[in-house]
Amino acid sequence: MAQRTTSRTLTPKPKAAARVAKTRGASRKRGQTKPWTPAEVEEAFSRFRKANPEPRGELEHVDPYTLLIAVVLSAQATDAGVNKATPALFAAADTPAKMVALGEARVRDYIKSIGLYRTKAKNVIALSQKLINEHGGVVPPSREALEALPGVGRKTANVVLNIAFGEPTIAVDTHIFRVGNRTGLAPGKTPLEVEMNLEKVVPDHFKRHAHHWLILHGRYTCLARRPLCEKCIISDLCRWPEKTV
Ligand code: SF4
Repeated sequence: MAQRTTSRTLTPKPKAAARVAKTRGASRKRGQTKPWTPAEVEEAFSRFRKANPEPRGELEHVDPYTLLIAVVLSAQATDAGVNKATPALFAAADTPAKMVALGEARVRDYIKSIGLYRTKAKNVIALSQKLINEHGGVVPPSREALEALPGVGRKTANVVLNIAFGEPTIAVDTHIFRVGNRTGLAPGKTPLEVEMNLEKVVPDHFKRHAHHWLILHGRYTCLARRPLCEKCIISDLCRWPEKTV
């Protein structure tokens, strides 16, 4: 508490002030980017659809419950890392009742190669128990009910609603956040802001798959450190001043 009070009263160091100014400058730049026209958005998503008509998520699962568990495990971890651990876990327990019977210690053993595994094991057991107690052991197709489960936030709920229940939700992860801002398609300072802006600009007929197209674009083309602009299918539409084409 004392530390927090003190840090608020300190004058920012020059380097920190420069960082803040740079960030604000970046925000202004973001704000000044010419917005995409509806025709440009239509064109971009038409190209994504043409390149990949039925995009799929990369987390392995067999039903809504195993998807939910995989998404919970994927927080701050890669899909590939989660996919290495889940086959054995799901072979041992692929329903809430079996997961609760397996117990937290054994779940921990199955997922210990994944970051934050202790907290995640606790959440997996708690959310499975809650599914049994309140939803008859079934994953509920409602945002409110999903977000009330331990370890489930807005992003996880969006992924489950989209993939398991076909809802046109757009879960903004680190890749979509970067793509939304860098391209100028849906700028925002927070994932929620980017999500709300995507909701506004993406036409309804592309919303079902927009999440996957954007995530795959960010993961394999619009990379964080060195985007592959030369092979990007929306390079002519992208507003990023530093694009290399
Ligand atoms: S042109 Fe480059 S920066 Fe723009 S979306 Fe494509 S890969 Fe990303």
